[in-house]
Amino acid sequence: MLEKLDTQSPDALLALIKLHRDDQREDKIDLGVGVYRDEEGETPVFRSIKAAEAILHDKQDSKSYLGPEGDIGFVNALMPYVFGNADPTMGGRIAGMQTPGGTGAVRLAFALAQAAGAKSVVLGEPSWPNHRQIARDLGLEIISFEHAADASTTDFEALKTAIADAGEGDVLLLHGSSHNPTGIDYSLAQWQEIARLAQEKGLIPVLDIAYQGLGEGIEEDVAGARAFLAEVPEAMVTYSCDKNFGMYRDRVGAFYVLAADRDVLDKAMSNANSLARANWSMPPDHGGAAVRIVLRDTELTRRWKEELAAMRGRLRWIRDTLGKAGTAGSVDLTPLASHNGLFSMLPIGPESIEALRRDHAIYMAGSGRINIAGLNEGNIDRFIAALGDVTA
Ligand code: PMP
Repeated sequence: MLEKLDTQSPDALLALIKLHRDDQREDKIDLGVGVYRDEEGETPVFRSIKAAEAILHDKQDSKSYLGPEGDIGFVNALMPYVFGNADPTMGGRIAGMQTPGGTGAVRLAFALAQAAGAKSVVLGEPSWPNHRQIARDLGLEIISFEHAADASTTDFEALKTAIADAGEGDVLLLHGSSHNPTGIDYSLAQWQEIARLAQEKGLIPVLDIAYQGLGEGIEEDVAGARAFLAEVPEAMVTYSCDKNFGMYRDRVGAFYVLAADRDVLDKAMSNANSLARANWSMPPDHGGAAVRIVLRDTELTRRWKEELAAMRGRLRWIRDTLGKAGTAGSVDLTPLASHNGLFSMLPIGPESIEALRRDHAIYMAGSGRINIAGLNEGNIDRFIAALGDVTA
């Protein structure tokens, strides 16, 4: 029976990790893997999380089941960050649950939309590759459009055309901020315009927030999403704590529904619960519990914000340094200064990417995506020189 299966192509980034690991050159640079790196190239556990884990270790007295919704204390503690302090439930129109990472939340959002009748996902590409994979796995079509018009602006006309091509009830997937992989985000005015277009067409928006605090600031990074949510009757929000709390393998995410009224909200959440139950029964607890402890404790929250600000500041320094370099060979680096978050696309082809790896021990995805966090004071000049060398 199993011999009938086709072998799937391995994840290209995982292959890249192995190549990088086996490279003996001491000055090798990894711009491939999608995790934050500090100045030393490490991805350490946040000190605020370590402190929360110590509390959890001392105080947790049961590991009994919680239920498909996971740690509701975590889900509620996160809400003011996403939806604002003033009215985090938007008048009782929002409910949520914990999910296994942002991935679980995206899966749940797409599946719930499908259960409600969605046939397609409107998706700006390139995107996080799993958006397409999850949609395909569920049997949803993709209405793809170019996310970026050029190196620094979104292609708003392409988005409008794709919305026009969608059917009523289809999903509109939008990255909250720090777009993966282009780093190019919508302006506040565009968010409001998209809200109007989505509503006119009767689309169900899914706002995927995976990098809050890594772009311009904790509040700034959700300003567009909040402006959007203020305009629409219903939407879903998928949230990942895996970057902004450094939880990665602990798989910490949340899923929220905004509905027009309490009845619809209850109906949506009962469906989300039953989908979660059928998919993973309940999310892993540890990471969500640690984030809850951080967010409920004033001092730990202050430390978390400080750690996040340090990450954001370092990413900003890298972007400013690249921007100030101007050009490297044929590559204009100035747009990278205006991007947000971990990722940007370099407009270079496979030969240059291969030459960077072969001749300079610089590793990046075949798509041209770089994770700028792989750069630091010690290697950024060498990176710019190498890029100049392979594209001259
Ligand atoms: N959405 C986007 C845009 C992402 O880039 C990622 C992964 N980095 C996710 C969702 C999923 O995050 P997680 O690792 O929490 O599953």
